[in-house]
Order: sequence, then structure tokens, then C-alpha cells
Amino acid sequence: MSARVLVVDDIFPNVKLLEAKLMSEYYEVLTATSGAEALEKIEADKPDIVLLDVMMPGMDGFEVCTRIKGNPALAHIPVVMVTALTDIADKVRGLEAGADDFLSKPINDIALMSRVRSLVRLKMALDEWRVRENTASQLGVVNESSNFMAESVEKAAILMIEDKSFDAQKIKETLENDEHHIVVCDGGIKAMESIRSHDFDAILVSINMEHEDGLRLLSHLRSNERTRHVPIILIAEEQDMKKVAHGLEIGAHDYIMRPIERSELMARVRTQIRRKRFQDRLRATYEISLSMALTDGLTGLYNRRYLDVHLQKIIAKNIENKKDMAVLILDIDHFKSVNDTYGHDVGDEVLKVFAERLKDSTRSFDLVARMGGEEFVVVLPEVSDDRPYMVAERLRQAICSTPIPCKAPEGHLAITTSVGGVVIGPEVITPEEAIKRADVGLYQAKKEFGRNCCVFEGIGKINPDDYQPRGRPELEE
Ligand code: GH3
Ligand code: MG
Ligand code: MG
Repeated sequence: MSARVLVVDDIFPNVKLLEAKLMSEYYEVLTATSGAEALEKIEADKPDIVLLDVMMPGMDGFEVCTRIKGNPALAHIPVVMVTALTDIADKVRGLEAGADDFLSKPINDIALMSRVRSLVRLKMALDEWRVRENTASQLGVVNESSNFMAESVEKAAILMIEDKSFDAQKIKETLENDEHHIVVCDGGIKAMESIRSHDFDAILVSINMEHEDGLRLLSHLRSNERTRHVPIILIAEEQDMKKVAHGLEIGAHDYIMRPIERSELMARVRTQIRRKRFQDRLRATYEISLSMALTDGLTGLYNRRYLDVHLQKIIAKNIENKKDMAVLILDIDHFKSVNDTYGHDVGDEVLKVFAERLKDSTRSFDLVARMGGEEFVVVLPEVSDDRPYMVAERLRQAICSTPIPCKAPEGHLAITTSVGGVVIGPEVITPEEAIKRADVGLYQAKKEFGRNCCVFEGIGKINPDDYQPRGRPELEE
């Protein structure tokens, strides 16, 4: 996986050294020798990761990091601070400014490369969701875009897998400062049980447990459906760097070395929770926007756009399986007079109940969609014998047999619907043609047969007595 890395250091040989290391791993490298130049290049070239020296004249690394993280358009770009400072306070200051990691000079090559690879991978996943969110906002279905640094970092549910009770207690106490809820497990079996019943925002895994291979556990957590997207932070000893690098390779998001420094732990956990919440938000926005793009806001039924695409698939499957299918189109009778007499709101109530009754009278794999206005389409994917006529009758009766509750003065309204239908064999036909053929029946039902009836292509008006609905829709063959 190639990526663009920006190396920032005021000392030119340092820049060259890092550049050479990264280029030998086939990264594209950009360089800057001051904070101001770095910010310019980040704006202009949007790197995938920034390696940032802390001590620079003028604007130092803390300031550069704060500015990157303060800009919603850039805040998701990972920043690794690189420094000769070893003071824990500096490290924490960097992490709190939003840096994703803090590496000490001289740089350990394994630590550097595994860090860069894993952060780039996380960023790519985030980028994917950002593109989708962007599409959603262009469709006009979301209007506020998510801001990485604005995510709350408190009150998260955290799972800790650690068999050293002293460290476990210390970590728990520390994280409780951020009002996190911590579940402690001393091994993998308990952890897996816990995962089945809880949703976690982050998981801490010790890789120095006595009876458990932390990396194996990590790989389980990565492949488990319920924890696949949950950030995992490894807890390790200084001499475990090779294992940590392997852990980052197989999907850990971060690591912390013993002895655990409280403020560093808090800062690292915050970063992961922020990332998780940001990504969850992007995903949720995307899902909402998808459902908004494909469903009708008033009734919750699928809309015309979805109907066209899905009907096409049903037709193709019908041809493949050499089966018959049916398309029904329903239009409420004299609906205009409902609006004219009782107002638009009552009309809307009627539409909602009408839609519910259609849903309740069909099977889950039948497609019910609102075409627009007071017109609905029902597609029955595999039909045989008289089922299409029976279902059409059932739908018609579901509407007319019980008045629709609404805010009309009487508390309900008697409504009827006309239904046009067509049974389509395994033939090549477009969704538009299929609907048009059903529409011919609907037109006849309205104009020739005085409404509140079902008319099928090639059959004419259905005699209700011949097709009495049988049983509940879900129990049909
Ligand atoms: P017909 O029996 O021939 O179908 O007569 P109709 O009055 O039902 O048909 P027409 O097409 O003349 O009127 C449909 C009405 O549906 C007109 C329109 O204002 C109303 N309508 C369309 N969409 C909505 C909606 O979302 N809410 C409400 N309340 N009314 C709607
Ligand atoms: Mg109508
Ligand atoms: Mg109409």
C-alpha cells in the first residue's frame, strides 16, 4: 500500500534520513523544514500521514499539530511526532494536541515503519467513509459534515484483557477519570463471552499474559463480527517491540508500554475513541443517507428509484428461474376529495395507514413501494396458480373492509382502492413496461368498472367471490 508521507524537520539531514528510510519502503515522500511550510504543504498536497519534529524555531511541532487538528478538513490526517525529548510531559502534550503517536529519536526503524503502515491503513478506511459522506451531502440528504476533533472522548465502554491484577486495577482507575465504563477480563474466554453481550468502544489487550497469547487474541478480535471495527490498544513491555510491530500489522490501532503512565494512557485511549466515534458517525450518516435516498419519508416504503432498480433484478431472476411474477399497481379512489374535504394532514394519515396495510398483507420478500402521490406498486416475485389474483383481492379488501383511523371528524374514513395487475412470465421486459401493463388494468378499474376492484391483463375484472384470501400472508407457499 503506497501513501504520501510528509516529513517535517528543521534539520535538513534529519529530513533526508527519514526520506531515505521511507522511500526504501516505496512511500511517496514530501518534505518541509518549518512549521509554516508544513502547513502549506498539508493544505496543498493532503498527505496521508505527517511525521513531525517537535523542536523547530518559530512554530514548533505542538503548534503545527494543534493547527492541523483544529482544521476540520485536515483533522483526520494522522500525525506522528518525532522528538529527542523524552520527558513524559512532552509526550502527553503531543498526544493531547491530537498527535496519534510520539516516537523518540533515534528512531527505531521497526517502530517507525509499523506505525506508519498501520496509521496509513486506518486513514484509508476513514477516507473511504469520508468520500461516501461527501456523496451523501451532495445528494442533499445530510447537511452537516462530521468533525473529527469535535467527537466526545468520554463515557466509553472499554474492555481490558489483562491478567496482572495490579496493572489492571491501575488502568481501570485511570480510565475512570474520563467516566469510561471498564470491563476487566483476565483471559480470552471471558473476554469473548463479554463481547457477545456488550458493545465496546475500545479494547486493551496485554501481550504479556501468562496463559494467553495476546496476539492470537488480537487476531480473533479482528475477525469477530462484533469487534471488527473496535480499536484495539496493546499493552506491552519495552522489549516486546517486534511483537508490537506484528500486532500493528495484524490490526492493532495503538500500543502503550509498561510502566504505564496515566496521562499517556488517557490520551491514547481518547484518540482511539475519537476515531471510533468519528468513523461510526460517518457510517451512520451514510446508512441514513442511503435509506433516505431509497425510501419514502412519509410511509417508510421503498421509493420509485429503489423500485426501478429492484424490479429489474426480480425480472432477471424470474427469467433465470423460468418463473412467473406479478406486478400490481394500486391507486386510492377519490383521494383528492379526502384532501379537499379534510385537509392535507388527514390525507397524509390515510397514506400512512394505507401503506401499513399493504405491508401487513404481503410477505416480507414481496416488494411494496410508493410510486408517488397515492399510487403504490406491489411486486410478487415467484407466483403460481391464482395467487396474484388472491393477493390483489386481499390488498383491496385490507383497505375497504375497515375504515382508516384518522383525524377526520368521525375519527376514521372509509377508503377504497383500485388495483391493476399483470402476470409476467420469464420474458425480457423493462420495469417501465411491466408497470405500464399493470397500469392499463388500473385505468380500466377506474373508468370501466367504477373503482374498488381489481383488473388483470388478459383476465379483466376479478370476481371477489372466486378469490377469497386464504390465511395469513407469511404462511402462504
Ligand atoms: P381517482 O379515484 O381517479 O384516482 O381520483 P383521485 O382523486 O384519487 O386522483 P387524482 O389523481 O385526481 O388526485 C390525487 C390526489 O392525491 C391529488 C394530490 O393532491 C394528492 N396527493 C398526492 N400526494 C399526496 C401526499 O403526499 N399527501 C397528500 N395528503 N395528498 C397527496
Ligand atoms: Mg387516486
Ligand atoms: Mg392518481
